[in-house]
Amino acid sequence: MAKRDYYEVLGVDRKADDEEVKKAYRKLAVKFHPDKNPGDKNCEEKFKELGEAYEALSDPQKRAAYDQYGHAAFDSRTRGPGSGRGFHDPVDIFREVFGGGAGGIFEDLFGGGRSDPAQSQRGADLRYDLEISLEEAAQGCEREISFSKQEKCDTCQGAGAETGSKVKTCPTCGGRGQVISSRGIFSIAQTCPRCEGAGRVIEKPCKTCHGTGRRERATKIKLKIPPGVDTGSRLRSSGNGEAGMRGGPAGDLYVILHVKSHALFQRDGDDLLCDVPVSFVQAALGAEIEVPTMNGKAHIKIPTGTQPGTTFRLKGKGVKNIQGHGQGDLHVRITVEVPRHLNQAQRARLQEFADLCEENVNPISQGFFDKAKTFFS
Ligand SMILES: [Zn+2]
Ligand SMILES: [Zn+2]
Repeated sequence: MAKRDYYEVLGVDRKADDEEVKKAYRKLAVKFHPDKNPGDKNCEEKFKELGEAYEALSDPQKRAAYDQYGHAAFDSRTRGPGSGRGFHDPVDIFREVFGGGAGGIFEDLFGGGRSDPAQSQRGADLRYDLEISLEEAAQGCEREISFSKQEKCDTCQGAGAETGSKVKTCPTCGGRGQVISSRGIFSIAQTCPRCEGAGRVIEKPCKTCHGTGRRERATKIKLKIPPGVDTGSRLRSSGNGEAGMRGGPAGDLYVILHVKSHALFQRDGDDLLCDVPVSFVQAALGAEIEVPTMNGKAHIKIPTGTQPGTTFRLKGKGVKNIQGHGQGDLHVRITVEVPRHLNQAQRARLQEFADLCEENVNPISQGFFDKAKTFFS
């Protein structure tokens, strides 16, 4: 297959400056990235081609070579030993362009980076999803969670090296992290294959952890969950993520909370809502009723003629505000239950009651039918 011109691949002019090249690359790389086009072979090819073109044109030395010799400048047959890796690796370039922690889409695209054998590295942050009850969320609680994570290797204390072994300057590149390969007419600097650019290597890697300084182990952590948390609340446990590589600092543990729905209470911010059924007799005559709260039973008086949907507020019986701004309320909403099964005596009494009803007993229905009458006339 004939190779396309690198300038054409990036869609830039031959006189384009570094900034323009970088911009064009970013735009196209996002468009053709395999993660965004899963299974699309054409995009995969385009993405590779793009990485190749960018690598050549973003490096002044390589660009000059390309301008002079075209694709022959990067012909694999003219490459020296040790130049096998990192040359056509678009992911590597991508990282270099956007740097570590560029955020947003790029971090999502390149989650797992390549590690560097001699340099210490911060451990990864961990996410743990924890389900708690509404009571636990409202009142706070202590929970112990267990999971396995990468912990510091005991044998080497996280250093990654055997006792007495040291981190030494990489013999291949002399600590520069780069090797220069000469090809007659020009020379190209490349990342050292031995130390992968770190400039240092471990003399004798620890046998237990193979030089990583870490081992996977089951862990238990006690969490103190403050009152007022809700679904989506994120707790950070500093330093309880994965251990760092070769003595690097540990990552953090993030606990994401999910509050289970409750049989009696619905939550609205710091307020709680509870539907409490009463009989139509209680609603009509008024009554003292028992209502549940987060911390036990309470009693409220509902007045004579309480309508369905009427809510009563129990101040301070809601959820504690997470920022310490007081406490929410409990709203008790009255629902009226209509009797389903009446025996003969009950039926007779109700009929008797109905016969006694005058206009003012059910003013709402009276008003409604008056309006309907006008509407149909
Ligand atoms: Zn070890
Ligand atoms: Zn090296």
